[in-house]
Amino acid sequence: MSIVKRPKVESQWYLPAILSGMALTFRKLVQNLLHKDRLQTLNYPEEKYEYSPRFKGNHVLTVKKDGSLRCTACMLCATNCPAQCITIKAAQHEDPSVEKYPISYEIDILRCVFCGFCEEACPVDAIRMGPEWQTPAISGSNFQNDIQQLAYRANLKGGVQSRLDDQERHKAGI
Ligand code: SF4
Ligand code: SF4
Repeated sequence: MSIVKRPKVESQWYLPAILSGMALTFRKLVQNLLHKDRLQTLNYPEEKYEYSPRFKGNHVLTVKKDGSLRCTACMLCATNCPAQCITIKAAQHEDPSVEKYPISYEIDILRCVFCGFCEEACPVDAIRMGPEWQTPAISGSNFQNDIQQLAYRANLKGGVQSRLDDQERHKAGI
């Protein structure tokens, strides 16, 4: 015959544990109010965390000196993307010295894992991951970043010129 052991009446009395939890919470509240400089949290959005320059945040399609995209639509970034969230449509460029360019370049940010593989795969420094990390949007379609968003969004102030252009200028002594 099995005997059911019922818990003692004292252990069913939760009030001491509740009072102890509330006392701990109150003590932490007072400590935090008196020592705000020791807080481990930020008052977002007034205060924002400064990430290191190596931080891989929102994508940027870089531009040439004339403001056009550096991207040659070679598809290496899309091929290397583990989340398969880059979609590129290529077209022949009217300039014979440029083979192809993207008529459409989209990144589905909701599928992106911010690994940086696209940036590493690009042979012409046409895509980078910058310091911005806020991507608020109301509907899912707003997370489908197109060329306008990736290369010419307001925060980029006309676009980010590639490092390769800087090197070319440096070599020419300009
Ligand atoms: S960061 Fe990674 S997952 Fe996101 S688009 Fe680039 S390669 Fe794909
Ligand atoms: S961003 Fe770079 S890797 Fe991707 S298609 Fe353009 S040139 Fe190729």
